[in-house]
Amino acid sequence: MQNRREFILRSSLAVAAGALGSTPLFGQQAPAAAPQPPTVPVFTPIRRNVGTFTARGGTMGWLVTPDAVLVIDSQFADTAQMFLDGLKTRTPRKIDLLLNTHHHPDHTGGNKVLRPMVTKIVSHENVPGLQKKQAAAAKTEDAQAYADETFKDGWKVDIGKEKVSAKYYGPGHTSGDAVFLFQQANIVHMGDLMSHQRHPRVGEIADRQLAEQHLIGARQVHVVVVVETCEGEEPPSRGQQRNGNRGADHEHSITGHGSRRV
Ligand SMILES: [Zn+2]
Repeated sequence: MQNRREFILRSSLAVAAGALGSTPLFGQQAPAAAPQPPTVPVFTPIRRNVGTFTARGGTMGWLVTPDAVLVIDSQFADTAQMFLDGLKTRTPRKIDLLLNTHHHPDHTGGNKVLRPMVTKIVSHENVPGLQKKQAAAAKTEDAQAYADETFKDGWKVDIGKEKVSAKYYGPGHTSGDAVFLFQQANIVHMGDLMSHQRHPRVGEIADRQLAEQHLIGARQVHVVVVVETCEGEEPPSRGQQRNGNRGADHEHSITGHGSRRV
C-alpha cells in the first residue's frame, strides 16, 4: 500500500506526464495552431511600486521608483520592446537591474533588447550555461544577452527604498531557478516555479529519478516560500482582515506565470 507521500508524488508525476503528452517538448516543432489574438501589453501595479507586465511569455516583474528601476525577466524580443515602450512613459530612468528567474526563452529572450537600457543582469550561476546550450540548439546565439553577475545560493540588494533578495532552492522547474523577494512590498516572483491553477512544470526530465527530484524541489519551494513570506510579512490590510483570507493574498503576491516549455 502506498503511503501519502508516494501517492502525492505519483499523482504529481501523472499530472506532469499528462501535460507532457499533450504539449510539444522544448525544441520540437509545435503543431499548427489557430490564429492567435494580437498581443496586448499590460502593466499591473500590485503595491509599493512593484507590479507585473504581461504580454506573451513568462510574467515579468518590475519595481519602478524615481531612484530605482528593477525588472524581473524579459519575455521575448518583441514583447520586451513593448515593455520598454511602456516603461519610458512611466520613468525617464534606465533599468538598474534585470534579474532572470531561469534561462527559458520566454524569460530571457528579451534580454538583448533591454540590454542597452540595463546596468547589470543577474541570475543563478547555472543560467548562462543553460541559456547558451538552449541558444545553440535553437540557433539563436546572436539574440542572447547573458548575466553579468551570478550567484550560487542567494543574493540581495538594497535598491531605492526596497530590499530585493534571491534564493536558489535546488532543481525545480529547471536547474537554475531563482525565487526573488521584494521584502518591503512582500511580493515573491517565482518565475515558472508557480503556474496559475496547475502544477508547475519541471525540467530536464531525462529519467524518472531526475523528474522526481525536480518535482520534490518545486513543491518544497512552494511550501518554503509561502512560510518564509508569512513570517516576514506586514500585518494584513483592512481588506484582508475583513475577508480573513490571507492565503488568497499570497496567491496574488506570487507573480510567476506558467510556461509551456520543459
Ligand atoms: Zn520556464
